[in-house]
Amino acid sequence: MSTFRFQALKEALGRDIVSVNETEKRSVLFGENVFNQATMLQYLTKDAYTSVMDAIENGSKIDRSIADQISSSMKDWALSKGVTHYTHWFQPLTGATAEKHDAFFETIGNGQAIEKFGGGQLVQQEPDASSFPNGGIRNTFEARGYTAWDPTSPAFIYGTTLCIPTVFVAYTGEALDYKTPLLRALQAVDAAATAVAKYFDKNVKKVNASLGWEQEYFLIDSALANSRPDIVMTGRTLLGHSPAKGQQLDDHYFGSIPTRALDYMRDLETECMLLGIPVKTRHNEVAPNQFELAPIYEETNLAVDHNSLLMDVMEKVGARHKFKVLLHEKPFAGVNGSGKHNNWSLGTNTGVNLLSPGKTPMSNLQFLTFFVNTIKAINEYEELMRAGIASASNDHRLGANEAPPAIMSVFIGEQLTAVLKELEGVTDGKLSPQEKTDLKLNVVGKIPEILLDNTDRNRTSPFAFTGNKFEFRAVGSKANCANPMTILNTIVAKQLEDFKKAVDHLIDTKELKKDEAIFNVLREYIKDSKNILFEGNGYGKEWEKEAKQRGLSNNKTTPEALKAKVSKKTLELFEEMGVMNKIESEARYEIEVEEYVMRIQIEGRVLGDVARNHVIPTAIRYQNMLISNVSGLKELYGKDFKNLAAEQMLIIEEISEHIGKINTKVNEMTEARKKANKLTDLEKKASNYCNKVKPLFDEIRYSCDKLELLIDDELWPLTKYRELLFTR
Ligand code: ADP
Ligand code: MG
Repeated sequence: MSTFRFQALKEALGRDIVSVNETEKRSVLFGENVFNQATMLQYLTKDAYTSVMDAIENGSKIDRSIADQISSSMKDWALSKGVTHYTHWFQPLTGATAEKHDAFFETIGNGQAIEKFGGGQLVQQEPDASSFPNGGIRNTFEARGYTAWDPTSPAFIYGTTLCIPTVFVAYTGEALDYKTPLLRALQAVDAAATAVAKYFDKNVKKVNASLGWEQEYFLIDSALANSRPDIVMTGRTLLGHSPAKGQQLDDHYFGSIPTRALDYMRDLETECMLLGIPVKTRHNEVAPNQFELAPIYEETNLAVDHNSLLMDVMEKVGARHKFKVLLHEKPFAGVNGSGKHNNWSLGTNTGVNLLSPGKTPMSNLQFLTFFVNTIKAINEYEELMRAGIASASNDHRLGANEAPPAIMSVFIGEQLTAVLKELEGVTDGKLSPQEKTDLKLNVVGKIPEILLDNTDRNRTSPFAFTGNKFEFRAVGSKANCANPMTILNTIVAKQLEDFKKAVDHLIDTKELKKDEAIFNVLREYIKDSKNILFEGNGYGKEWEKEAKQRGLSNNKTTPEALKAKVSKKTLELFEEMGVMNKIESEARYEIEVEEYVMRIQIEGRVLGDVARNHVIPTAIRYQNMLISNVSGLKELYGKDFKNLAAEQMLIIEEISEHIGKINTKVNEMTEARKKANKLTDLEKKASNYCNKVKPLFDEIRYSCDKLELLIDDELWPLTKYRELLFTR
């Protein structure tokens, strides 16, 4: 904690912070560095406060004179906390967060200066944006982009900088960041879900999508991590033999947290508290030195900002504890990789979780409505959902040696499967009074009890219903959640719109009652969505076969998976829902394909370098040691030396074999890269990197890892898995 904050905290508490116990401290610390509602009430005039709240709740515009008041109050608040700079904080498509700091300081002539932060500076900025990825948008259209204040995510102090969450868009209006399409998707799902929720409660005015992410990560001693060029350059190990002990004993998961890691977590959590990130859970994960952190869920836009911020905070706090935090999805072969489960639900302004069964049959019908519509949406857009989590690093999890698979499916548990089966049998058209009573008492009325003892926890499903929310488990640990959340909320919005039209149509044309119409539409949806429901083992080979028969996609690599982002169906979906126009969708696609190419290219270069400049020379040195040993034996023992040197000679030969393989394969890989680089068609280039360059990684690695086992430990130039994974 910086000294000024420490001081401020001490003053606020009126006592020494060291003596404060952990739980008490949390609630006091929470939101300390956030310009949140409580702070706004204290610092803003009534008009300004009302205006911000109206912008947050109803998306209304904040007028310029009010913006001046707000910025001035924000500045006063920030200065009172020792802040010197401000920045528009945004999430460009690089995956990291971006900030450019400006001082509040301004000269006013006569050698005098003041601290200034005007409404204009709060509301809009023009960062030098030419070096952010834009997928050709800014080349074809306008060269400039600007950032604009997003009042729905509160400003916060990070270090000595006031950060204003913003969107980042081109002057022509196209989104250049993650946040803009997400906000549009959240608006779409709000409108569509509110309209449907009104069937059940006229008082519903707004529906918020909620997100609770669970962040997995590895903590590696930074000196050890920094000794590995592959970790430094790519965030993962490109070679390294599995240690004698991996995760097979399951002795790490939920075990007692190692002291050094716990110290890190405490510090991290304190920082999160100050920033208003409501972290709650921490525990060991399955692999050695792997951990997880999860917050209380929040409105999706805020939760996404908080996760992006968290990833940055994790790294900074890690540096203080001499840890390198690995957020890569697969830093080590042979042990589990990391994911980021996205728990998702929809909640009304009246406080109802629409994916949680209620106390009455009507509220349960509401639950079923949102439940079945979500399943239908995933069924319709399973390939797009897969595309939303595609990245070079996540390919190591999805469809590779570990789960979840690259096939999208939905797990709902045995009991809800039975409920859907009942609903499938509902009469076409008008329902008899007997059938209505039966549905009310025996199907819909029984749902809460069913869920109470629904302990099914299929961990192999990429998209699982877990009692009062869906859990999208295939998201990568270093991904920006905005990408999958934009897709999920858009497809659900579209689905709910279609649902409302279908129900209204039945009410109007067939003179059905509202609940009859709903039952009728749900019945058809359940029939239509059967393919996506899967309760079995998602990791099994049988599922791959069955999924194929069902017509589900199984796009194992990123270049293949990403194509769904620019299919006719997707382009139309985003256009229709007002989330992204064709230009924006295509630009994003291009950026992601390009990023894939660059990642594999960098990995190829690093691997080539490590194999040829570290591994081969070491192998030769050790081989020379063996050779002089053999010649020494020959000198000493004459022709009898062979009995004594036989094994050494075998090792000498084995080393030569591996050196030969490595050298040939590295040459092949370099040639394959050269060939790929010459391709002007981006898709072809990506496919070449994926199918021609990347497979050579495994072959090169195989021989390097074999050499690791043969060569004198003292000579081996790379820190081994054993040291990386088991140093505490
Ligand atoms: P578990 O999945 O282990 O049973 P929880 O039910 O407590 O644990 O939830 C796990 C994650 O799901 C937490 O990050 C939590 O914030 C999130 N979560 C819980 N309810 C919701 C909800 N309604 N919407 C979004 N996320 C939620
Ligand atoms: Mg979970």
